[in-house]
Amino acid sequence: MPRGIFVTGTDTDVGKTAVATAIVRSLVSAGVRVGVYKPVATGGSADAEALWAAAGRPLSLAAVCPQVFLAPISPPRSARVQGRAVDEQLLGRGIEPWRKGFDMVVVEGAGGLLSPLSDTLSNAALAGRLGLPLVIVDAARLGAIGRTLATATAARALGLALAAIVLSETVPPGAGAPDDPASPWRIARDSREDLAAALAPLPVGLLAHGASAVEPPIRWAG
Ligand SMILES: [Mg+2]
Repeated sequence: MPRGIFVTGTDTDVGKTAVATAIVRSLVSAGVRVGVYKPVATGGSADAEALWAAAGRPLSLAAVCPQVFLAPISPPRSARVQGRAVDEQLLGRGIEPWRKGFDMVVVEGAGGLLSPLSDTLSNAALAGRLGLPLVIVDAARLGAIGRTLATATAARALGLALAAIVLSETVPPGAGAPDDPASPWRIARDSREDLAAALAPLPVGLLAHGASAVEPPIRWAG
């Protein structure tokens, strides 16, 4: 069983938390003891609370996210607004409580793969430091193929392993006809299919809007 996965995105607000919580719920229902870790958050702890609830509230919310800054901007700038700095040692060390007594830890980054977590560390750098494979999330809307392949290519160039790709329907796709190739509903499903073909054998899933599980199912625990 892998020690964990690092959920990152092609951008901010692409549905990372929805995907991370779906992964956590699926692992919990399979009997896996799941830890959850958000190394740093800005604008509040909503993501950490969602991850914590999905995992069944293990340890404490402070263990899920040891560093929260108020302004909803990049972590290093948000910290600076408060006259502080992101603790880079803690970004890495904060995962330790989840290494003991848990089978697996699901980490949710902040922003996109190359977004800064601190003055010197990006999400990619932390994922590498933690030794975790990536789940790349993108919003299931037009452009998903280009955005996702750009992020996957960057990840591989940086020597990071990929575990899966998930497209996330962040808004209801509407009632458009399923056979209309330009409907948001169809674009989401066709994009998933095209990415699965381009990245095979990497698993590529879709988290439909309001759905509780990624389809087709992905074996997150290995
Ligand atoms: Mg999030």
